[in-house]
Amino acid sequence: MDAGGTKLLGGVVDSDLGVRHRVHRFWRGADRQETLGIVLEAVEEVRGAAPDVEAVGFGIPSLVDFARGRSVWSNHLPILDLPFRDLMSERLGLPVVVDNDANAAALAEHRHGAAKGADHAVLLALGTGIGGGMILNGRLYRGANGFAGEFGHMVVDHDGAECPGACPGRGCLEVLASGAAFGRAGQIAAEKAPESVLGRRLADGHEITGGIVTELAHSGDEEARSVLAEIGCRLGSGLVGIVNALDPEVIVIGGGAVAAGDLLLENARQVVAERALPPAAERVRIVPAAFGDESGMLGAALLALEGVKA
Ligand SMILES: [Zn+2]
Repeated sequence: MDAGGTKLLGGVVDSDLGVRHRVHRFWRGADRQETLGIVLEAVEEVRGAAPDVEAVGFGIPSLVDFARGRSVWSNHLPILDLPFRDLMSERLGLPVVVDNDANAAALAEHRHGAAKGADHAVLLALGTGIGGGMILNGRLYRGANGFAGEFGHMVVDHDGAECPGACPGRGCLEVLASGAAFGRAGQIAAEKAPESVLGRRLADGHEITGGIVTELAHSGDEEARSVLAEIGCRLGSGLVGIVNALDPEVIVIGGGAVAAGDLLLENARQVVAERALPPAAERVRIVPAAFGDESGMLGAALLALEGVKA
């Protein structure tokens, strides 16, 4: 189960990462009880389709105390200070493993996806916010407390806008380059260019989401393309810091925003090539997630399968 800031994606996953049954839920604005109820009901739905489920892995958008399975703090879901693993295990009657959602995604991409074979890799998941995970020396790196990898909260603009959600920061990368930022930038672009296809969508009463911006960009709308190009540059500025700090072999971009593909990534690569310290910039690869927006779900399943074997 990959529990994101606005949606849940789950599935029954085999040991070879085949997905047999998927489940989707949306929970914008749900409180803690509703959120947990939606999670439990989604797990029960997939168990109905596959009664042989042995364990449940959760990727959650929280700072996670991995050893205790606790959600310590959460920017986008009302699940802070919660013994998530024990609560779910008790309710479901199954072994449960809980990790940060982007850690789970990084694990899946490292084991079987776009970072396979790399000893040093970073994953950024662009969705409601920006999740991050990293593989250092071939292992998932969680930091002193389990809180490492929050690249979305690197400050790239000291006087920038307040970070959405519960983050006390300003000008975080997440403000400038998340999937939600696509929608915010798209809204501004639509207001400025009411005659563009994007502008007409807004005039027709549609909410300008990241998905609409991406769809119109792929169909050739210049306004939508320039939104993605601009966000690609901002993303690139964040990646410059990551490249200089960690010298990874590969940076994998995942989450829903991966649908933008090279319309986003080309400019990010360009900014890294121009601004990161040259020897590291020349070697790093910046690639889309092999599993698209399903890396987190697959990684959560991998963690659960390993937990059962251990
Ligand atoms: Zn922040």
